[in-house]
Amino acid sequence: MANEIEQLQPQGLWHYFAEICKVPRPSKHEEKIREYLISFGKSHNLETINANGNVLIRKAASKGYEDAPSLLLQAHMDMVCEKNADVDHDFTKDPIVPYIDGDWVKAKGTTLGADDGMGVAAMMAVLADDSIEHGPLECLFTFDEETGLSGAKEMPEGILVSKYLVNLDSEDDGEFCIGCAGGVDTTVTFTFQPQPVPAGVMFFKVTLNGLQGGHSGSDIDKNRGNAVQLLARFVNTLSAAMPVSLAAFNGGNLRNAIAREASAVVGIPVAKKEQIRVLANLFLADLQGEYPNEPGLKLSVDSLVEDASSSVIDSVTAQNLVAALVACPHGVMGMSQDLAGLVETSTNLASVKMNADNTILVTTSQRSSVASRKEEVKNKVAAVFRLAGAAVSHGDGYPGWKPNVKSAIKDILVESYSTLFGQTPTVGAIHAGLECGLFLEKYPDLDMISCGPTLRGVHSPAEKVEIKTVEKFWLLLLDVLKRMKSLK
Ligand SMILES: [Zn+2]
Repeated sequence: MANEIEQLQPQGLWHYFAEICKVPRPSKHEEKIREYLISFGKSHNLETINANGNVLIRKAASKGYEDAPSLLLQAHMDMVCEKNADVDHDFTKDPIVPYIDGDWVKAKGTTLGADDGMGVAAMMAVLADDSIEHGPLECLFTFDEETGLSGAKEMPEGILVSKYLVNLDSEDDGEFCIGCAGGVDTTVTFTFQPQPVPAGVMFFKVTLNGLQGGHSGSDIDKNRGNAVQLLARFVNTLSAAMPVSLAAFNGGNLRNAIAREASAVVGIPVAKKEQIRVLANLFLADLQGEYPNEPGLKLSVDSLVEDASSSVIDSVTAQNLVAALVACPHGVMGMSQDLAGLVETSTNLASVKMNADNTILVTTSQRSSVASRKEEVKNKVAAVFRLAGAAVSHGDGYPGWKPNVKSAIKDILVESYSTLFGQTPTVGAIHAGLECGLFLEKYPDLDMISCGPTLRGVHSPAEKVEIKTVEKFWLLLLDVLKRMKSLK
């Protein structure tokens, strides 16, 4: 029985969306959807290529469009699989059940997979319909976008012929994206010698929490407090006032999240036990003045039993650790010169973890839409920790996509949208990763843009797509296909 969403307009797109809802496609388990797309291409007599796990389907130009430049449409075939706790659903075999809820389409108890099933279904509808006018087309379905950008990373060199790319993975009608940030992780290891607890020392647990945290890309410009850095600052202030032995320091969690909580165990002379509370209150008052946007911020000092710790971190390592955490850059390092309001470069001091093997692991991550600035901030963070005697290593990272405000494909989409809907779309960029950045590595001449219908609640069971924007997305796509004729 056909699903009710197949009654919606545009019928072709909704038909294929209903079809792929039946095909399992969790990230890293794309076998079934890959096979499905390959047999779709072949059954329509289209050139179909398995490009290192990505599926590339080519369609020749329709009559009169033979001289238009080739256009690459692209979407990812995998989806995030999240469900409500009370829902019995096996994403590796059960179908997604979409339904209409007012102006939106949702799924019963699970993610909908409109991210990026909308892009996948749109490309299939274009490929299947011979009445659509278009130049030479390449449709690329990538795998594992959601958990590693793996398909884009694995894309072979020299296979794509198009110079123009429209990525169909954006989430807001009327907002086009022409740039993203690249990223890299910098991981730091301190090794310490455990020392006996000095005589006459009393231990306190100092906890800084109640901060908002947030995403290290999209929230980095909101001037939120970083629990790790603020706590290090307090321990540093304390050390200026009295001898401090550090027994533990932990804080933060995910590398792409701003640290919300951190705690340290410090030993101080018993005679100073009142002074630590006074200093903590003064410090908290300072922070409240600096962060009016963090009303939940708390700094608590709890006395621990005398032998709370059997050893402490050697004083040289402890001082180096605290100094490096204070000195480590965190937050926005530069704004874009091309797009107003866009963060160009940032770094996140993400977490500190003390391990049982006498090491302390500090995790940081850097982002920039400009490759050389990503290198710069990565090396800046590394330099701080190397000065402090720590070992530093970097992940492979992923490249960014520097916004090109002179993009020809951007002009086509903006003109098309304005003409069709009588409204000027916005053109921006995001301070997070997208597949487009990776395509540029092997295809540096690509002129790219990203668009899509309006999605909300993405990556959660609340995911939904706004029906009327799907029709606009489709009309835009058809019009852009025709307008490609005007490009060289
Ligand atoms: Zn997506």
